[in-house]
Amino acid sequence: MTGKTTGALRVILGDQLSPDVTALADLEPRHDTVLMMEVQEENTYVRHHKQKLVLVLSAMRHFATSLRERGVAVDYVELDATENVGDLSGEIERAVARHRPERIVVTEPGEWRVKALIEGWAGLTRTPVEVRADERFFASRSRFAEWARGRRGWRMEHFYREMRREHAILMEGDSPAGGEWNYDAANRKRLPTRAMPPARRRFAPDAVTREVMALVERRFSHHFGDLAEFGWPVTRADALLALDDFITHGLDVFGDYQDAMRAGAPFLYHSLLSPALNLGLLSPREVCGAAEAAWRSGAAPLNAVEGFVRQILGWREYVRGVYWTLMPGYAECNALEATRPLPEFYWTGETAMRCLKQVIGDTARHAYSHHIQRLMVTGNFALLAGVAPRDIERWYLAVYADAYEWVEMPNTLGMAVFADGGQMASKPYAASGAYIDRMSDFCKGCAYDVKHKTGPDACPFNYLYWAFLIRHKDRLSGNPRLAMPYRTLARWPRERELAVVAEAQAFLDTLDVKTNAGASIP
Ligand SMILES: Cc1cc2nc3c(=O)[nH]c(=O)nc-3n(C[C@H](O)[C@H](O)[C@H](O)COP(=O)(O)OP(=O)(O)OC[C@H]3O[C@@H](n4cnc5c(N)ncnc54)[C@H](O)[C@@H]3O)c2cc1C
Ligand code: SF4
Repeated sequence: MTGKTTGALRVILGDQLSPDVTALADLEPRHDTVLMMEVQEENTYVRHHKQKLVLVLSAMRHFATSLRERGVAVDYVELDATENVGDLSGEIERAVARHRPERIVVTEPGEWRVKALIEGWAGLTRTPVEVRADERFFASRSRFAEWARGRRGWRMEHFYREMRREHAILMEGDSPAGGEWNYDAANRKRLPTRAMPPARRRFAPDAVTREVMALVERRFSHHFGDLAEFGWPVTRADALLALDDFITHGLDVFGDYQDAMRAGAPFLYHSLLSPALNLGLLSPREVCGAAEAAWRSGAAPLNAVEGFVRQILGWREYVRGVYWTLMPGYAECNALEATRPLPEFYWTGETAMRCLKQVIGDTARHAYSHHIQRLMVTGNFALLAGVAPRDIERWYLAVYADAYEWVEMPNTLGMAVFADGGQMASKPYAASGAYIDRMSDFCKGCAYDVKHKTGPDACPFNYLYWAFLIRHKDRLSGNPRLAMPYRTLARWPRERELAVVAEAQAFLDTLDVKTNAGASIP
């Protein structure tokens, strides 16, 4: 390609695989070149699950093919290319030398780290760099900042209502459809034993994906997770089939069993759409539109559709706003001063606690857990055990197929381990074994007894929960949402408090000694 002069070099990053991404707007196929890069650094800055690597690399390769089919010149640097220098900025430098573009055009990235890299590209290449807004979200970064400005406490529900109005989703004139903004009172039931969740639609790996699987096994064999069950959609066409499958088979009871868990059934009625959404294969607008259409046609009830839309129009947009408004300091927050290294069983699944064993095992098999498995099992344990926020945050970033820092970090630091001290959630999501027992069948086959509060066979979540509340009494006892457990604690004699703290500490000490070797995350 040496000698050719390119108009614009249009850079498409790995999670920008949308035909309408702003970096491609006004593309001039006769003059412009699209640059896509597979680089070692992006594949290894955490030990990403093998399925996540395959998903991103295969989806990138398919996206490049779809652009070429439209007559677009794509300069695609494969991971194994001999000259590949292994990092984004180095590859940009090489590409500018190849194409000598008038300018570089890129859509703003999803991660602070990459934003900082892009800011160095103009100086590095002596080429103007145009960074465009990412318009694939309902709310721009500045829209969120405007909403957040001057508010003392940020609450997702308030932001969500503004988004509903602004984008006219599930609205009847100025009022919410059905008269209520939120139908959670009708949601979140225990899963009946007879319930038969639909089989997940699996997309069998095609030749491109199989080639990438071989590449990943060869170069990243030491990474977490298995490839055997890989079935994620890697093209927009397949992602649309996945959306249709969920709307037809999962949406109508999505709300009812949103918080339920069952051993051996990791997906239940969840959409499994986050990997496709976060890569850009689907747009949040079309997903919310499809759900709303199902309600309007009578195919799904309002409680299910509103609950689903709230996850995307509400939570997904809200956490992105939190990330961009509070970074870079947010990454370091540690309001509860938690310092314990991540227990090794988060990587191996080797623990007698059946809930954790099950969720971590499913994570290795599928690169997936649904929200409650993440929040109330692996997240809850990390919170109660006082795991260092950065350790558990890097774990979530590594192990899920949908994990990108802008969405993963606030969910982990803000929601799961309360490291931001309440910026995102009004109280820590701390729970004893009773919650897990109520929402799942995990406790039935567990080595521990969920009904026992103390003693060698007591469920560790029970004493860890009370020890957590005792440890953070000064900080949390004034929180109105924790008034009930603190009233209970106030009735405890001092000796009982001391005994629970000692039992929790003894358990945690054993855990560290037995399981913590090699827990460091790259
Ligand atoms: C500790 C922790 C870490 C998480 N890390 C990620 C992550 O890296 N990437 C990610 O996309 N989600 C993350 N989530 C949010 C949520 O768990 C996943 O979006 C969801 O489980 C994806 O599965 P699904 O597509 O079947 O979701 P469904 O239950 O079907 O929900 C529909 C969609 O709503 C969106 N959504 C739901 N809840 C959230 C939320 N809390 N924040 C943002 N979007 C949401 C997702 O796009 C999802 O696809 C995390 C949650 C926790 C508690
Ligand atoms: S008894 Fe406790 S550790 Fe065992 S599955 Fe239930 S909640 Fe988990």
